[in-house]
Amino acid sequence: MDKKGKIKNMNKSNNQILMWYDLTHGKKIKPEVDPEWVKELSPEEYEQYKWEKENLHVIGLNKNNFRYFDYYDPYEKIATKACDVCGSIVEIDQFGYGDCKKCGWCQDEMAKEQPDKVIYPNIIPLNKAKRLYKLGKKLKPDIYDFVGGLFFYSEMRFTHNFIDYEVFLRYDDMIVFCSEYMQQEYATKEDFINKANIDGRLLKDIWDEVVNADYMQ
Ligand SMILES: [Zn+2]
Repeated sequence: MDKKGKIKNMNKSNNQILMWYDLTHGKKIKPEVDPEWVKELSPEEYEQYKWEKENLHVIGLNKNNFRYFDYYDPYEKIATKACDVCGSIVEIDQFGYGDCKKCGWCQDEMAKEQPDKVIYPNIIPLNKAKRLYKLGKKLKPDIYDFVGGLFFYSEMRFTHNFIDYEVFLRYDDMIVFCSEYMQQEYATKEDFINKANIDGRLLKDIWDEVVNADYMQ
């Protein structure tokens, strides 16, 4: 993943979905008029001020250090809805996203359109989440959900026995499974599911021991 938070291809399989991770797609709100103290700035400081105002979605500026201290938050919760999984009231942002405090489901309109597909930021399909919730079970992915997430997002992680593992799709479409201590490569998702192992124990057989299976952040 691009750690700088730039644009990221969220679906390498069909190149359709692009998503921004930072605030750059947020609506800009700028002060209508420059504050009085701007007149006291040196030419260099004024250039800095202009840049910050233009690029950081600043509402107000601290003239002492030019760090933005107030900015428009596109993820501010602006409404509520009933959770799509458990029905609890959830706060959502303008895009319809919001984590349910009761069951953990992140509200997501795209998941409702494709309820049997693993779609970021959730790691299990919506219909499965509903089934698990009804059974009183945690919304935990199995290895098939995990692979579904991998092919949606291309970089996954989990922890097993206190060791962190990464699974990602490489530029040559190979599935790479690695930790600090090992690396395995698989050509297909079936190969990964059937052969990926930790110290010879098949991952699918020890999946119950896996914790923190999630998208790479
Ligand atoms: Zn819920």
